[in-house]
Amino acid sequence: MAEIQTIESMQPAGKRVIVRVDFNVPLKDGVVTDDTRIRAALPTINYLLQAGAKVILMSHLGRPKGEGYEEAYSLAPVAKYLATMVDAPVVFATDTVGEDAQAKIAAMEPGQIVLLENLRFDKREKKNNEEFCKELAALADEYVNDAFGAAHRAHASTAGIAAFLPAYAGFLMSKEVNTLTGMLDEPKRPFVAILGGSKVSDKIKVIDALISKCDTLIIGGGMCFTFLMAQGKAVGTSLKEEDWVERAGEMLKKAEAAGVSLLLPVDVVCADKFAEDAATKITSVDEIPEDMMGLDVGPETAKIYAEAIAGAKTVFWNGPMGVFEMAAFEAGTKEVALAVAANKEADTIIGGGDSVAAVNKFDLADQMTFISTGGGASMELVQGEQLPGVVALQK
Ligand code: AMP
Repeated sequence: MAEIQTIESMQPAGKRVIVRVDFNVPLKDGVVTDDTRIRAALPTINYLLQAGAKVILMSHLGRPKGEGYEEAYSLAPVAKYLATMVDAPVVFATDTVGEDAQAKIAAMEPGQIVLLENLRFDKREKKNNEEFCKELAALADEYVNDAFGAAHRAHASTAGIAAFLPAYAGFLMSKEVNTLTGMLDEPKRPFVAILGGSKVSDKIKVIDALISKCDTLIIGGGMCFTFLMAQGKAVGTSLKEEDWVERAGEMLKKAEAAGVSLLLPVDVVCADKFAEDAATKITSVDEIPEDMMGLDVGPETAKIYAEAIAGAKTVFWNGPMGVFEMAAFEAGTKEVALAVAANKEADTIIGGGDSVAAVNKFDLADQMTFISTGGGASMELVQGEQLPGVVALQK
């Protein structure tokens, strides 16, 4: 991979530095309800402020139509929240590249912040429109991308703009890319990958890529039933993708040929319906009743998985083992989370999305080596794809 310049090689004093951050945070009634993404951007923001830069922040929030202002997607509440977290004035621009943004940036002093309004109010952002890239670039002297969570998108602010300004990776971006590529290129062994979640079809590329890299691949969640079908088992009313059974069978063969130990459940928690108050029964995977669905891996399976995790030196985890949102089906995911947290010898990397929610639910986040802030972006990176946001920084 070509080298990426990081912000440590910048000379930002007195310069206007436009920083793409991922402030796509959940809001309820105009209040930020989870500030993880804002916190994750603070090292870069503080570094630039202390270096005497004029810090212009830009982000998307949600999925507005792209036809101008929509109150529900305004970044104004985020500006207010950010002001409580940094030791600098935060000015909010009510547009992105228009008169308000230009005037507020012109009035900036070093060590100050201007946050631009939601990039996606302008439909040119997602189209990576060249004019829009130039208009964004004209606001600044240098560009920093710290929005790893949006790095798999080729948008104006995440990719196109880099053609028009000196471009650097922020601390979060470099840490994400270095951790994930380090894990793939030089994992400490044994390398145990854990994949769960609902569908094989969503994860097939990740499964394929990880079989070539890891020593043990643990499979749980809804997608395990398609694998069990590939082994000729009956899975009752469990989530299944009949069109993917053959492909799952190929993955089993590929793992065997590669000497990768691919672990599937030996028992499951079955339920008579998809509901918290369902009647449940723990059965072997050979005896799933035809009118029941597996909603979690069983206790015997969780024990086997925990043992495999305990022996790892690198762990990568994406996707829950069961329907962890419901207390009746959270045990498998919790056991796995506890086992990952307990392994202090290993680099433990949580690959975004629902596994982060699970780790947070069980209050284990601070026990992990690294938690990726980008679900989609980290999956694409692990499956060997080039992220446009990263490629744009490789000059
Ligand atoms: P994903 O977004 O693909 O990582 O899938 C996460 C979702 O898969 C979570 O909302 C889980 O509730 C769901 N899930 C996990 N195990 C099962 C299962 N056995 N049956 C149905 N859904 C599941």
